[in-house]
Parts: sequence; structure tokens; C-alpha cells
Amino acid sequence: MRDIRIIHQFEESNKTFIIAESVKKYCKCPSCGIVSDKIHSKYTRKMFNGSLDGSPQEIILIARKFKCKEIFCNQEIFTERFDFIDPYGRLPNNIIEIIKILGLSTSAEKVSKIMSKLGIKISHDTVLRTLRKLPKGLIKLMNPLLILE
Ligand SMILES: [Zn+2]
Repeated sequence: MRDIRIIHQFEESNKTFIIAESVKKYCKCPSCGIVSDKIHSKYTRKMFNGSLDGSPQEIILIARKFKCKEIFCNQEIFTERFDFIDPYGRLPNNIIEIIKILGLSTSAEKVSKIMSKLGIKISHDTVLRTLRKLPKGLIKLMNPLLILE
């Protein structure tokens, strides 16, 4: 993840906490597309909470909000965007892709169990929510028994 760097790592209650911050110098406004380097504020977001290597880990990302520089843009402030995670996502996109691939071949319940074995706790409702973002035709073709309602 080239846009972030780890600034702190510590253990507490047998869990490793990794604190990372953004190193991006600017960000594109999602409304008007104008690039801004005017930082408005910082905030933290959980990026991952699981145990990919067997020991519990939580990655906390210090992200920023930017001020849009375009005076005619109706978006005054916007959250920083990253390639590897959605603006309000709780899991990196590569893990979301695994969930989608599994969801196209088995039930949401089983995807939830498989992900749990991999150390990622995700409810079957979240699996269904993730799959609903895929084209309906693709789901029908790949997993006709899957019920998304
Ligand atoms: Zn803008």
C-alpha cells in the first residue's frame, strides 16, 4: 500500500495494533475532480481487524479530510480516497475481492465461515451486501441458487 506508512505498532491484550498514516500530498475532489493539497483535518478509521497470520491484528489508518479548492464546487470538504479501500470501507479491496469470488461459488453463510477461518470476521449479511454490488446477470450466471434479498 504505497500511499500509507506505518508510524506505530504496539501490542495490547495479545493483539497487535498497527497505526498507519497517509503520505499522499494531495487528493482529487470526488465531486469536481480538482486536485487539492489543503488539509482540513485528520481522522482515524479501522482498516482491518482480524488475524491473517494467526495472531489478532488491528490496523488503524489516520486519514485526512481535504478542502476543495474549486470555488464553484458544492463539496467544501471531502475525505481522502485510497486505491486499496473504499471511502467508508472496513476491509481492504483485495479482501473484498476474495469475498466476491467466494460468494459467486457458494452460500453467504459458507463465505462467512471460510473468512472466519482466515481470521476475518464478516457476517453473512455483510457478504450479501458485498455481493449486491455485483452485476445481477453475473450472479445469476455464476451462482443461480444465491438469494440476495
Ligand atoms: Zn470539488
